[in-house]
Amino acid sequence: MKKHNFSAGPCILPQEVFGKASEAVLDLDRSGLSILEISHRSKAFVDILEEARGLALELLNLQDKGYQALFLQGGASLQFYMSALNMLEKKGAYLDTGSWSAKAIKEARLLGEVDVLGSSSDKNYNYIPKDYKVPSDVDYFHCTSNNTIFGTQIKDFPKSDVPVVCDMSSDIFSRDIDFSYFDIIYAGAQKNMGPAGATLVVVKEDVLGKVSRKLPTMLDYQTHIKKDSSFNTPPVYAVYVSLLTLRWLKENGGISAIQEQNEKKAKLMYSEIDINPLFDGFAAKEDRSTMNATFTLNKPELKETFEQMLADAGINGLNGHRSVGGYRASMYNALPLDSVQLLVEIMDELETKA
Ligand SMILES: *Cc1c(COP(=O)(O)O)cnc(C)c1O
Repeated sequence: MKKHNFSAGPCILPQEVFGKASEAVLDLDRSGLSILEISHRSKAFVDILEEARGLALELLNLQDKGYQALFLQGGASLQFYMSALNMLEKKGAYLDTGSWSAKAIKEARLLGEVDVLGSSSDKNYNYIPKDYKVPSDVDYFHCTSNNTIFGTQIKDFPKSDVPVVCDMSSDIFSRDIDFSYFDIIYAGAQKNMGPAGATLVVVKEDVLGKVSRKLPTMLDYQTHIKKDSSFNTPPVYAVYVSLLTLRWLKENGGISAIQEQNEKKAKLMYSEIDINPLFDGFAAKEDRSTMNATFTLNKPELKETFEQMLADAGINGLNGHRSVGGYRASMYNALPLDSVQLLVEIMDELETKA
């Protein structure tokens, strides 16, 4: 039985992408070769990479605006350091909204001063701090748009006179915002774009080249820009599967269409959490993520029953992260509304058993 996959990442991708991705392992576009055996310098792959880079910018509405899209490796976790290495001369300003932000702050501190503008660590990151201003005497402002673990999401980004760097790993391509507000966006592919193994970095070229330190070749964004994201062997298969997902997104109406779907799913999920007396939402209401809904069951004696019902219904990946506990329903782009509907029905049914 095909499961309903609420996993936080790696996570569900469109079913048709799985089909096409598996075909390409045997025979890429009737070339007689597998995607896994072709040269990364072959025309077939260069075309794939160029299309993926172009489509990422097109979907974000950033083409012809001085941005470059790169497919790198090392995950979003390497970007914590790499973004600071390329941007931090003296001081970076950070918003601390969760474990991923805290990790980004730790890496930046290896390179210079860090000004933490606000933190929600006092309440186990269940809200987004709002009472802060981005100073103009810092090199850049860094934030995490969606806090995958805690289920919070920045809805309004602050005014900033300095370049903005954003970890968008878990909500990129999910909502229609003005992406030109950001100067560097990075995202591990494995949450809304593709399989693990590639990291998308979208960077505005004119913010680079301003730090005085000597950058290691592989950690310099300009190396990868100059070589069209092929300085070394790119993660060929992860790029290909990301391209399939980006094509799927475009064919289905792009970001604004998927945003509508994502809002429907989130509305259904959160109204159940709010109405059903057995469950409590974790995140502050105004900061709730449309991607990851975190909640707890307030009758521990029903835990076993609930989890058996989930298992019987083929629901996968609902366990919360260890730092929050409870449950987390991750509702990324490819998760059908039907899966959320089913989960909500099970929660309703549990209420009748209580
Ligand atoms: C998953 C995640 C990361 C870590 O990504 P890796 O690719 O595993 O390094 C960083 N930031 C956010 C917001 C995430 O959701």
